[in-house]
Amino acid sequence: MNPPSDDLAAAAAERLRQVRLRIEQAARAAGRDASQVRLLAVSKTFDADAVSAMAACGQAEFAENYVQEGVGKIAALRPRWPSLCWHFIGPLQSNKTREVARHFDWVHSVDRLSVAQRLSAQRPVECDGKLLPPLQLCLQVNISGESSKSGVPVPQARQLAHDIARLPGLRLRGLMCIPAPAQGLAAQREPFARLRELQQDLVESGLALDTLSMGMSADLEAAVLEGATIVRVGSALFGARAARAQPRP
Ligand SMILES: *Cc1c(COP(=O)(O)O)cnc(C)c1O
Repeated sequence: MNPPSDDLAAAAAERLRQVRLRIEQAARAAGRDASQVRLLAVSKTFDADAVSAMAACGQAEFAENYVQEGVGKIAALRPRWPSLCWHFIGPLQSNKTREVARHFDWVHSVDRLSVAQRLSAQRPVECDGKLLPPLQLCLQVNISGESSKSGVPVPQARQLAHDIARLPGLRLRGLMCIPAPAQGLAAQREPFARLRELQQDLVESGLALDTLSMGMSADLEAAVLEGATIVRVGSALFGARAARAQPRP
């Protein structure tokens, strides 16, 4: 890996500053403390040098959508940045769970019990002689009810959450959603508010959840106003992604 070029470093620092400012302003408007909102840098399609430049600015949490690409970057970056936290946020097929359970710290995109059971069975207890914490999980909810989208339908979320919460090697932290794109703050807030209400229901049913993973480059303000504790931001931090064929997840 090359040291970050001055241009890459300066662009990374400026984008990060602007995104943090957006989070701070939205948090202030919501009467929340910006420190309650974790920023995930979604580095899919960007190379290890781009991640390294962002890490050099102090960004410590990164998210990937594709298993192979993510595992490659984690391995390339570990020598220089051993303590970055890696989140898997993409569609997860059963034949890829082993790699995810080994290499990632979080998974946001679990929407089936069978996948959670595999992650539970495959999460190593230790790595390089050190105990590995449980894999931190969010349940992805199909909050807009789009038939083509991944995520558990809202009516089935409670049962699934309770089933997953019992599995060893995992810690269910909360809910994640990717709503249908909407224009305007009010329309953007509506699905996020529903996810927050669902989370509240689950907490009242006895689950100890503390995470709402919601909001991306185009709608992070709406998400922060509705209580997001993690926002997942890609293009606002790294620039526009080149169009590419949809790879196999
Ligand atoms: C790509 C992606 C993001 C980031 O999207 P941007 O619009 O680039 O901020 C967030 N969450 C998920 C699940 C993604 O796939």
